[in-house]
Amino acid sequence: MDCPSVLLIYTGGTIGMIENPETGALESFNFDELLKNVPELRRFNCRISSYQFDPPIDSSDMEPALWAKIVKIINYNYDYFDGFVILHGTDTMAYTASALSFMLENLAKPVILTGSQLPIGTLRTDGKENLITAIEIAAAKHPDGTPIVPEVCIFFENELMRGNRTTKINAENFNAFRSFNYPALAKAGIHIRYDAHLIRRPDPSRPLKPHYLFDTNVVVLTLFPGIRESIVNSVLHVSGLKAVVLKTFGSGNAPQKEWLIRQLTEATERGIVIVNITQCQRGIVEMQRYGTGLQLLQAGVISGYDSTPECAVTKLMFLLGHELPPAEVRRLMNSNLAGEITKDE
Ligand code: ASP
Repeated sequence: MDCPSVLLIYTGGTIGMIENPETGALESFNFDELLKNVPELRRFNCRISSYQFDPPIDSSDMEPALWAKIVKIINYNYDYFDGFVILHGTDTMAYTASALSFMLENLAKPVILTGSQLPIGTLRTDGKENLITAIEIAAAKHPDGTPIVPEVCIFFENELMRGNRTTKINAENFNAFRSFNYPALAKAGIHIRYDAHLIRRPDPSRPLKPHYLFDTNVVVLTLFPGIRESIVNSVLHVSGLKAVVLKTFGSGNAPQKEWLIRQLTEATERGIVIVNITQCQRGIVEMQRYGTGLQLLQAGVISGYDSTPECAVTKLMFLLGHELPPAEVRRLMNSNLAGEITKDE
């Protein structure tokens, strides 16, 4: 019998909480309790095993060392499972999905992150459906036995999105995530409809290459009308700083202040990599379009294309973790490594 196998990695977050009937407080469940709350899992024609973070964490406490732990678990179990489902708090799920997409080079199996806005033990929970569909996607194969979605993705509220394209957009409703600059890879209704031409195809001859190192000497600097020279100066002179994600206006524009361009030019000359992403959720940076963008290009700022902030930060930390020279970090920031930017190459 062809029975696919899925490893569930439970890191924490709201999905794994159950209301204690005595105190009313939300508490993290033990994986042994999962079957009790989601008896539907028994009906899967699928072998499901689990690994639990001990203790489970609120995703606000997620950090690169824990991403490395997740990658170690996946790498160790890679040959034994057809797919992986990561249960994760929603707050930083987009960062984790972006980081994993770079850390799991040559990934050829599904790694699907999901979570929920309401705990799995509550009556109106969105967690059950998210979990069940995520497992189904992680186990899904083509007739020739290859996985349908060999990518790091987030599944949430009926949509399967490329992980490094996602942003958390809602702290209230069930549709917590959005992929503004890349269409959904699949939509789950009565059927799960995959959009095959949007899904990355791995090179089967290349083995999984896990990466573990990050350099966190990165800052996000958001421009706003009235931003002060002394503050920009302080940020750009922070000791150890190696890269800046500069959140600009519109299609990549900044105020035309002599001091701003001088400071950015000097920072670039000191080897700091400055990446321009837009404060708009949808759209792409085009620095040649207006004089207010062109001046940034001339200062040595590079385009982040249509990167999400989560993706730009994690990609920079990932590349800097390889101790590459600034010129190489810039080149790779402008290369499409895992489907994270829209760029014809
Ligand atoms: N604070 C929680 C977390 O991110 C929220 C959630 O899971 O939705 O861990």
